[in-house]
Order: sequence, then C-alpha cells, then structure tokens
Amino acid sequence: MGVLINLAYLVASVLFIFGLKGLSHPRTAVRGNLLGALGMLLAIVVTLLHRSIVSYQVIVAGLVVGGAIGAVMAVKVRMTAMPQMVALLNGFGGGASALVAGAALVEAVVLGQQPPVDFTVATVASGLIGGVTFWGSLVAFAKLEELIPGQPILFRGQHWLNLLLLIVALAMGAWLIDHPQQTQSYWVLLGLASGLGVLTTIPIGGADMPVVISLLNSYSGLAAAATGFVLSNNMLIIAGSLVGASGIILTSIMCRAMNRSLANVLFGGVGSVAAAAGPSADAVYAGKVKAATAEEVAMVLDGARRVVIVPGYGLAVSQAQHALQQLASLLESRGADVLYAIHPVAGRMPGHMNVLLAEADVPYEKLKDLDEANALFPETDVAIVIGANDVVNPLARMNSNSPIAGMPILDVDKAKTVVVIKRSLSPGFAGVPNPLFAADNTLMYFADGKKAINDLIQALKELS
Ligand code: NDP
Repeated sequence: MGVLINLAYLVASVLFIFGLKGLSHPRTAVRGNLLGALGMLLAIVVTLLHRSIVSYQVIVAGLVVGGAIGAVMAVKVRMTAMPQMVALLNGFGGGASALVAGAALVEAVVLGQQPPVDFTVATVASGLIGGVTFWGSLVAFAKLEELIPGQPILFRGQHWLNLLLLIVALAMGAWLIDHPQQTQSYWVLLGLASGLGVLTTIPIGGADMPVVISLLNSYSGLAAAATGFVLSNNMLIIAGSLVGASGIILTSIMCRAMNRSLANVLFGGVGSVAAAAGPSADAVYAGKVKAATAEEVAMVLDGARRVVIVPGYGLAVSQAQHALQQLASLLESRGADVLYAIHPVAGRMPGHMNVLLAEADVPYEKLKDLDEANALFPETDVAIVIGANDVVNPLARMNSNSPIAGMPILDVDKAKTVVVIKRSLSPGFAGVPNPLFAADNTLMYFADGKKAINDLIQALKELS
C-alpha cells in the first residue's frame, strides 16, 4: 500500500508541475488549473487510504464543512476581492500546517516516544513559519477588506522589536529542539511567531499588499513542506516546495514590475504620509484638467487610425470588459486598429487584466505587454485609459521622491490624445496625484467605467 500511495503522490506531483507550467500562459491557464485540481484530488483520495487514519467521520465532517465554506466563498467572491481571498487561503494553509505539526509533536510525546532531531527541527520550522503566515495573512486580509487602515502602521523602534521577537522565537525553537518533551513551549513559539506575523505585516502599505500576499503564499508552502517532514509525507513535501518556490518567483516578478526591491516593499513603509510627500493634488490639477462628454470623446475617436486601450483596476470594479470589447469591435468596424496595453501590475493581482479581457473574448494577439505598448504609443492616435491610474502615472519617471519612482509605466502621455475614464480625480492604489490628468493632450471623461463605455458606444453610433 505504501508503494502505491507514493506512486500516486508521484503522479499528483507531475500533475502539479504541468499545472504550474500551464498557469504561466493565458492560453493554457485553464487547462493548467484543471491539471492542478486533478492532482490535488488524487493526492487527497490517496491520503484517505492511509493506514494510520483513526476516524473517517471527523475527516468527512471536516471535508463537508470546509468544502461547503470554500465553495460558497469561491462563488461569492468578487474578482476585485481575489487578493483577500488568496490571503485567507494562505493563512489557513500556514495555520493548518502549524497545528498539524504541533499535534504530531504532542502525539509523539504522549505515546512516550523520543522525537528525533529532524522531527523537532521540522516541527519548529512549521510552527514558526506557519504562525507568521497565519497572522500575517489575516492582517493582509483585514487591510484589503478595510477592516483596519490600509496605510502602513509605523512606530519608532518597530524593526528592532521585530528583530528581537525573531531572536526570541528562534531561541525558543532551539530550546524546544533540545527539550522536545516540553510540548507547551511549542505553543509559546507559535504565540511569538503570531506576534511576528502581525508586526511584520502592519508596516506594509495597501499598494504593496499583493506582493506580501504572494510572499506569505510562499511561506505557507514552506510551512506545509516542513509539516511534510514532520509526518514523513512526500506529497506535502513536494506540494509545499512547489508552492514555496512559485510564491517567491511571483513575488520577485511583482517587485521587478514595480522596480522595487523586496526589502523596500517589506521595510519601506511606502504609502505612509511621510513617504507620500510630493506635489499636492491641488498643485498638480488646479485649472489644468479638461473634462469631456461621451459625445466629445466620440468625436475624438472618429477617424482615429490606431486606438490603444489601457485597462486598470477600475475596469474590474466597473466590470466594463464586455462593453469594452463591443467598443473595440465598433471602432474596428470603422477602420481603426485597436490594441490593449497590459501593465504587469495593473489591477490587484498579476494577470488580473488578462483574466478580465479573456472573459470578454478579447483575442490574445491584441494584448501588448509594457515594452510592446510603449513602442506603440508615439504612433497612437487615441489612448483610452479605463480605470488605470498608477500604471500610467508619469510621476514615476519625473519625480525620484515619489513612492512610485522608477516603476516602469505605460507611456500613454506619448499618444496624440489620451482619454482617461474614471469617476473622479482621486488617486490610485499608491495614493499619489497623477500629472497625466492635467496634461495638454489629456481629456478626462468622468464616469463609472461601464456606463462611460456604453454611452460612448451610443455616441459613436449616433455620430455615424
Ligand atoms: P490604481 O489603483 O492605480 O487606480 C485605479 C483607478 O480606478 C482609481 O484611480 C479609480 O479612480 C478608478 N476606478 C475605480 N472604480 C472605478 C469605476 N467603477 N469606474 C472607473 N474607474 C474606476 O490601478 P492600476 O491598475 O493603475 O494600478 C494598480 C496598482 O496596484 C499599482 O499601484 C500597483 O503597484 C499595485 N499593485 C498591483 C499588483 C498586481 O499584481 N496587479 C501587485 C502589487 C501592487 P476613481 O475612484 O476616480 O474612479
């Protein structure tokens, strides 16, 4: 049976790897997701055959309750709330790993065994990483759900306190490895790790939260892998390592897209009042913003040869993707070449815009990445920015003190005319004003994204 279980785990691992490979491209992402889910189903079914299972009733009850909650959450979650959902799932993964490792330690001691060193080292690792992951993820969730302020919470000596807490936690872990019979110290370790999780996440600002969530995702994988060593379960070790590795790769991709180091994300406190110091909104906008109506924008689009659409977070909020696709078809039927410029961190998670546009059947060939799009803007008649703000903010190029300084942006300001669709002049996720809105070649079309596009379609039809 043991050989069969391990063989099935091997098949599940291969499915995970092919699943991850599939997820790396929009065309193959759905298949990749299915392969990963199939691998997980196989892993769960095979694990249920394990001989050391004592009570199936408890497992089935857990599966029914957990599965039902998960299914309701998955159906109900808004696309824009996906990062929070991922944060919760990471947190539960880390918390579960820490609890299982703790339970395995208690079981070993209660049964009168002398836990070997590799077992206790793995238990300590799981408790430490799992505790940080659970509480860090809950804080990230609370920030993104606006249950607590989204800005960085900073206080004097914060990093020293965190360092002290880490040293005490490591010392406690070392003591536990030496005295595994003292199981109560595991729970103290978990308490210290929990404090560390809260204190290391509160100084991180709203705009950096998706990066932290990806990092915590990586941690949850490491905690699972550590618990895999505690239980000698190859599946947990492999799956945890895959999550740990892919989470850290994603974290680094996001940091690169924002031109920030991970240390700056974790310790920079970007988004705090001090960090946001720069030109005030009044100074940037006063007397310079030109508002336009649907009819005026339709006239600008009339006769445009190349139109580049730049979607951002507001597209997801207004769910304007289907209307946008209709607008693109209408413009194409009038002879325009319509393309989409996708910034790697537009929206609130990597691939956010790709998912939305795929939902509306926008052909993949029409999506241009940052470099391709920036090469196109100088030859673009109209750039339509819908619900994007930070990713088109030229302040990133102009002001080295800005919180988004150095972030590669879509240079929409280089197009002949820019139409920005958003509801107000309020800032984006990074909380800084955007000089693009006051530029000579920019027209602000103030409205909800979906309504704006529908009115524009109507105005274009009336024009012809
Ligand atoms: P932003 O958050 O900068 O701006 C979104 C804009 O959408 C707002 O200014 C808002 O303006 C507008 N908006 C909101 N609702 C609507 C609506 N219903 N209709 C029309 N407009 C609307 O989004 P971006 O996509 O430009 O930038 C993403 C940000 O997220 C960046 O700061 C990035 O660094 C950060 N981030 C993203 C990650 C990712 O993986 N995608 C990872 C880490 C960080 P108004 O309220 O006036 O309508």
